[in-house]
Amino acid sequence: MKYVYLFGDGKADGRADMKNLLGGKGANLAEMNLLGIPVPPGFTLTTEVCTEYYKNNKSFPKNLDSEVKKSLSEIESIMGTKFGDSDNPLLLSVRSGARQSMPGMMETVLNIGLTSKSIPGLIKKTNNPRFVFDAYRRLITMYSDVVMEKAAGIEPVEGNGIRHKLEHHLSTYKLKNNLEGDTELTESDWVNVIDIFKDEIKSSLGAEFPDNAEDQLWGGIEAVFKSWNGARAISYRKIENIPEKWGTAVNVQTMVFGNTGESSATGVAFTRNPATGENKFFGEWLTNAQGEDVVAGLRTPNPLNEDTKTEDTSHLPSLQDTMPEIYEELFDIKNRLEKHYSDMQDIEFTIQEGKLWMLQTRVGKRNGVAAIKMAVDMFKEGMIDKESAVMRVNPNQLDELLHPTLEQESESKATTLTKGLPAGPGGAKGRVVFTADDAEEWKKNGEKVILVREETSPEDVHGMHAAEAILTARGGMTSHAALVARGWGKCCIVGCNEINISLEKKHFKVGDIIVKEGDWITMNGTLGFVYLDELQLIPADPDRNLEYKELMTWADEIRKLKIRTNAESPEDAKQAIKFGAEGIGLCRTEHMFFDEQRILAMRKMILSDSDDERREAVMGLLPFQKEDFKDTLKAMEGKPVTIRLLDPPLHEFITLDDKQVDELANNTGVKKSVVNQRISSLHELNPMLGHRGCRLGIAYPVITEMQARAILEATAELIQDGVNVLPEIMIPLVGTVTEYIDQESVVRTVAKEVEDRYDITLKYLVGTMIELPRACLTADEIAQHAEFFSFGTNDLTQTTYGFSRDDIGSFLPEYLDRNILPNDPFQSLDIKGVGKLVSLAVKYGREVNSSIKIGICGEHGGDPKSIHFCKENGLDYVSCSPYRVPIARLAAAQAELK
Ligand code: PEP
Ligand code: MG
Repeated sequence: MKYVYLFGDGKADGRADMKNLLGGKGANLAEMNLLGIPVPPGFTLTTEVCTEYYKNNKSFPKNLDSEVKKSLSEIESIMGTKFGDSDNPLLLSVRSGARQSMPGMMETVLNIGLTSKSIPGLIKKTNNPRFVFDAYRRLITMYSDVVMEKAAGIEPVEGNGIRHKLEHHLSTYKLKNNLEGDTELTESDWVNVIDIFKDEIKSSLGAEFPDNAEDQLWGGIEAVFKSWNGARAISYRKIENIPEKWGTAVNVQTMVFGNTGESSATGVAFTRNPATGENKFFGEWLTNAQGEDVVAGLRTPNPLNEDTKTEDTSHLPSLQDTMPEIYEELFDIKNRLEKHYSDMQDIEFTIQEGKLWMLQTRVGKRNGVAAIKMAVDMFKEGMIDKESAVMRVNPNQLDELLHPTLEQESESKATTLTKGLPAGPGGAKGRVVFTADDAEEWKKNGEKVILVREETSPEDVHGMHAAEAILTARGGMTSHAALVARGWGKCCIVGCNEINISLEKKHFKVGDIIVKEGDWITMNGTLGFVYLDELQLIPADPDRNLEYKELMTWADEIRKLKIRTNAESPEDAKQAIKFGAEGIGLCRTEHMFFDEQRILAMRKMILSDSDDERREAVMGLLPFQKEDFKDTLKAMEGKPVTIRLLDPPLHEFITLDDKQVDELANNTGVKKSVVNQRISSLHELNPMLGHRGCRLGIAYPVITEMQARAILEATAELIQDGVNVLPEIMIPLVGTVTEYIDQESVVRTVAKEVEDRYDITLKYLVGTMIELPRACLTADEIAQHAEFFSFGTNDLTQTTYGFSRDDIGSFLPEYLDRNILPNDPFQSLDIKGVGKLVSLAVKYGREVNSSIKIGICGEHGGDPKSIHFCKENGLDYVSCSPYRVPIARLAAAQAELK
């Protein structure tokens, strides 16, 4: 097996399509070489090395050493330098590179190969001792942190790690010697600092800093492989669903320096604007700096070109102006890369003494708005076809367009607290917290929070995920924080220089204004404004976005699955139609009974002793129900509406405290003791498996009768008014065909009566939810009677796994942590188990009733992965909450194209 893949000098062992083996970075470095783009030579240790390493108890495969040696000597001959040499030393970087980009989640070590032997050689070569010692101190800092501490498993208390200690020494040294920025330190200052660093490393970590190039290289390689299982990487993998078994590749590459003087520079760029999608080359750069300086946000980076300068950056020098020839070369490379990959690229470059080197290209992360614009633009530019454009946008990214923005008038009246860089669009409000752990904790307690950090380090990723929005004091548009937030489409403002955070006091200050933990702030992530207090957010109106509308038309042309919505009010229904719903797949009726006037009738029915009393109480609800259904059916004119008969256990309608029991006794004239006795008789140990669903209608047929009458009379009256309505009456929680037949006959009898009374022929369907395993297994029997099936995958998941949908929270986190379950089966359909039952039911049902209409109305109906499953299994429609309708439309089109 080949473990090491070389690239350099226009040749490469790998290619772009070898991401699984070489990781994204390694595969693209190889590809850029093949394209003749200048890339510092290097080699990639494959992801298989990583998996072998972990499989073999953290030891490397046998041949690795010799393969590395061979590749190293190839680089040496390309560069004409020698690793660890005393005359002309080669320096290396060691970087991670997984199959899918995980920005900042793993480790990097730069400047490897600087030792007491090679340092004089590099000084002679560069004639720049200050630069060499600066590079050496950077190596010492990174190496001691990444290799000697983290990879060695040393876990210092927060704020007491070696990196922090070394940085503290540097600040003290500067203070003592009246030096401000790092640039003021001379060669001899760095030599002094290096001595202090080495002493600290020895006393803190109990080991000398290694003075052998090869030891440094292997230490670096191993540490990067180990960082695959570091806390940050694990946490990010979980959120992004990246399997542990993928492993990371490691790239060892010749160092090029952007910090050798004023003719050197470094930068990060996107071939198009990743926040808006605009087709403008967009990036940031710094002269005399290393890449980390741009992303760490320690210095404010400059804009790449004149075109993308803003009011705030207009005074800063652009690369286009400062180094026009190099900018032209870079611009040409960006065009070639975008054309070659047919997608927006995120690139890193370094200019070393007037020579441009490309360090990375990858498909750039973008938010939803940008993803849509780029997909539509690239189709119009002839770069991709319509189908690819539809595939380009992750359906979940549409969520961002469906997110709220700040209400303009209240925003215009609000005083701006401060302003930063708009890294993630949309509006958000929440209560301020200062640590990622707090963000997670508060969110668990039902709070909406905004995470405020000095600069959001990748270790904060779990808290960033939990927060409504992220606000940082430092960092640029390409900082790690901005990248991560953008990937998630989260509202985010970075580089908000005015804010002064005190972690101890748990507050931040802007001038004299103090904002404490728990205070509300509101953010406009599209413009970068932060406001005190809670401002009004307005719901999204994606139709204003013309590219979105166009993309959705393409998706609608492609998809065959129909998209319905779960809605129980005319308002929900109207919203869903705006989002493109083609019908209601589930109108739950139980909430309609909780209105003050109706709940009394419901309770009267529960308390009644005879059929007559019960009938009287239930029929009291008829006019209300009829009005409800009329409004909803009318709102969905011309579209099918599935209305489900009453489902929940009766006790849910009569959960009362003592005072309420008194009131009910007064209102109904029933003795308090009788009320209490009835309540306790409704008590069930397992109400979810108890007297609910069709079991209610079987015990109390009058409920079914009343609901059927309300639906069908509403239908008859609307038809008489010239409104075209298509009701579908759905019987819940059927497990045997006999249950279905019993309830169906109640509905059909009512229908006959209504037809006679209104002298009309009604168009309606009767069908059932399939939400019990027994219903799936006997679907052939049920389908002989039912006109439609709708999979209630919430209950079907509950009853297949035997997991209570209300109590799974007590053990699910542990199941996910320990990989016992890959994800929450109530969110993403368990295809192996629950899915198998669904497939069987579709097969059995269609075998006896080829025209049966089949859909899904459990929560999974809005989950893209589950939608793919529904398409593969020949369902006619999926039904989901109104706000997920656009997501389902796009996912259904993508399912068609896959
Ligand atoms: C289901 O069980 O999937 C369903 C849609 O019904 P409910 O969630 O109301 O039980
Ligand atoms: Mg159900």
